[in-house]
Amino acid sequence: MLAALREQVRGPVLVPGDEAYDAERNGFQTAWRHRPAVAVGATGAADVQAAVAYAAALALPVAVQATGHGLSVPADGGLLIGTRRMTGVTVDPGARTAWIEAGARWDQVLRATTPYGLAPLNGSAPHTGAVGYTLGGGLGLLARAYGYAADHVRALDVVTPDGRLRHVTADSEPDLFWALRGGRDNFGVVTGMRVGLVPVDRLYGGGLFFPADQAVDVLEAFRSWTATVPETMTASVGMIPFPDVPGVPEPMRGRHITHVRIAHLGDAAEGERLVAPLRAAGTPLRDTIAELPYAEGGSIYGDPAQPHGYSGSNLLLRDLDDRAVRTVHELAGPGAPVPCVVDLRHLGGALARTPGVPNAVGYRDARFILRVLSPLTGAGLDAVRAAHRRVFDAMEPWSAGGRSLNFIYGDGTADQVREAYEPADHRRLAELKAGYDPANLFRLNHNIPPAEATASLRRG
Ligand SMILES: Cc1cc2nc3c(=O)[nH]c(=O)nc-3n(C[C@H](O)[C@H](O)[C@H](O)COP(=O)(O)OP(=O)(O)OC[C@H]3O[C@@H](n4cnc5c(N)ncnc54)[C@H](O)[C@@H]3O)c2cc1C
Repeated sequence: MLAALREQVRGPVLVPGDEAYDAERNGFQTAWRHRPAVAVGATGAADVQAAVAYAAALALPVAVQATGHGLSVPADGGLLIGTRRMTGVTVDPGARTAWIEAGARWDQVLRATTPYGLAPLNGSAPHTGAVGYTLGGGLGLLARAYGYAADHVRALDVVTPDGRLRHVTADSEPDLFWALRGGRDNFGVVTGMRVGLVPVDRLYGGGLFFPADQAVDVLEAFRSWTATVPETMTASVGMIPFPDVPGVPEPMRGRHITHVRIAHLGDAAEGERLVAPLRAAGTPLRDTIAELPYAEGGSIYGDPAQPHGYSGSNLLLRDLDDRAVRTVHELAGPGAPVPCVVDLRHLGGALARTPGVPNAVGYRDARFILRVLSPLTGAGLDAVRAAHRRVFDAMEPWSAGGRSLNFIYGDGTADQVREAYEPADHRRLAELKAGYDPANLFRLNHNIPPAEATASLRRG
């Protein structure tokens, strides 16, 4: 059967021991790695269809990987479909849309759209995959102005577990269209998506870097400042223990830094006026906020671009007060038992509004998201998990009840994945999963198990 698959697929079909096997399975996350029985490097939808049909025939569970930034459950003995060869991006400037193939990274999308003065709703890191990010919600640089990236999807091509390639829109398959935008890889492999673009070519953005002894003042100033800003302002504050290694720029190298990130849609004069209270919250060691082309928005967060091992999760918060801010600082700041990278993002604005065509992204009334992540160098996974649990347990009084799927890194627990959806949405997703994937072929992921009763009803 493997020989037949090799005949059918234009890209490589690799098994353990093949020379190119490691290059095919490895990705950005290095703490977990896929070890599939078969790895297929897909070059297009036909390759994906052949791979899914092969996996279904052998009852091999399927995993999908574009970049590996969001690896959850590693394929151990299953079939891995790699999409990184599928990088086409076609822009329709008149319609303000782009067709984005499964493996395109945001930097590749930005290169195609920004010459037209148009922007996708990409996130902080240009090296993440556009499709995986969008299917998980997609909380971007312009989130408060335009909502989730998933809200701007117009059409999806997807190979479902039955091997069919479907063109899915709000009209053609409304349930599947709803489920894919938030349900991510539970319903098949998306081979391409059409997304709406927004007319943005410049931003007022960048970062303020404060020393550790000003962290509490800055966090508190940020919290109260968020109540005053318009939707054109999307901002966050982080705490980062920068390692003392070559490549980390001074003055951050080896220091615990409180990092305010700003992305404002508007001119520099208005941006300066809005940011003034944050600049005055302490004495920044570095201030990089200025007008910049949207294509350079990746510099605002400056996420590390080198593959590494990390574990982390998040909690959506209905609100924050000074006690909450102090709790985060105490448990995840400079005194944390393991090095923690904290990211507290301001939500609301357009994120709070249900899009014209609703999707499975929930908890829209959350006002903040708290993310905590730790590199898995030095500290072991158990210690990291225990430290993160302490933070999230302590923040429970401020919880909005849910989490963001995109920011559950590593093999998140079943409870965490369930909490990424509102209860009624999770039930609807499980029922749809029972219809589209009754055998749970797509289970090497943040899994939504098929609703059993419905599954047996439909099977019977
Ligand atoms: C440094 C960094 C910065 C980030 N910044 C942001 C941010 O600002 N906002 C935000 O919302 N998220 C952010 N994320 C999270 C990121 O969006 C998710 O991890 C996303 O899933 C990554 O997608 P990927 O394709 O790059 O990764 P992969 O690990 O290749 O894929 C991640 C998941 O998406 C699924 N998937 C990928 N392609 C497809 C497909 N074609 N069809 C079906 N399923 C697919 C995979 O099965 C997998 O479960 C960040 C992550 C990192 C590591």
